[in-house]
Amino acid sequence: MDIKPIVAGNWKMHKSGEEGVSFVGKIKNRILDKVEAKVIFCPPFTSLFSIVKALNGTDFSVGAQNAHFEIDGAYTGEISVGMLKSAGVQYVILGHSERRHIFGETDVWINKKIHAVLNAELVPIFCIGETLDDRKSNQTTLVLENQINLGLQGMESIDPVKMIIAYEPVWAIGTGETASTDQVAEAHAYVQSVLERMFGQVGYEVPILYGGSVNENNAMKLIQTKGVDGFLIGGASIKEESFCSIVEQVSKYYKR
Ligand code: PEP
Repeated sequence: MDIKPIVAGNWKMHKSGEEGVSFVGKIKNRILDKVEAKVIFCPPFTSLFSIVKALNGTDFSVGAQNAHFEIDGAYTGEISVGMLKSAGVQYVILGHSERRHIFGETDVWINKKIHAVLNAELVPIFCIGETLDDRKSNQTTLVLENQINLGLQGMESIDPVKMIIAYEPVWAIGTGETASTDQVAEAHAYVQSVLERMFGQVGYEVPILYGGSVNENNAMKLIQTKGVDGFLIGGASIKEESFCSIVEQVSKYYKR
């Protein structure tokens, strides 16, 4: 299978609609013709429509940072997958550690959201990762396996072009502390083995992104790490220089 690496930018709660459109316009002008990667911008909900419009006619894609699992109803403040789809969104980040740890999202909720996103024919970017305590107490593989089992519960098969996993050690997100290439390779190999056990050979082909303080200085060695199919990037994804440099390095150095 011909696999392109993926670079997804999670803008979190940053950039107004105008700032977002201007940002993607600059990125488009700088790297559009040099990109050998699938680039996905994940702005806040309020910018989705305008960013989709600004990227119309390009290969760049747009993702949302969350979704509710119900189709509609009395859920104040929530956004459904149908609404995202009609806005032109193709991807949805689910299970991000900030959703799990700040907003108390459970594996059960994440599982419902994954099903809702797949039913709407959108692609989940399903985030998993251990805390520092988990790692210190040698629970990393157990935590990853549980998150995958519970998050993907009820799925009888998996399609590697309709699912993205992001391994994001919680202690590396927004801290400036990146996991070592050995830690990343080990975690990605483990995730691949769990997916293969659950879904057979096709599980092995599901792209696995690394996330956690990726920047223009560590991107090259991380993208050359075995099992890394791209990045989910927070802080560096809202900085023009950093983001362009990371996309260029991923385009140049990725090999599966
Ligand atoms: C993230 O929020 O998914 C993330 C990886 O953030 P950062 O790159 O800032 O660590």
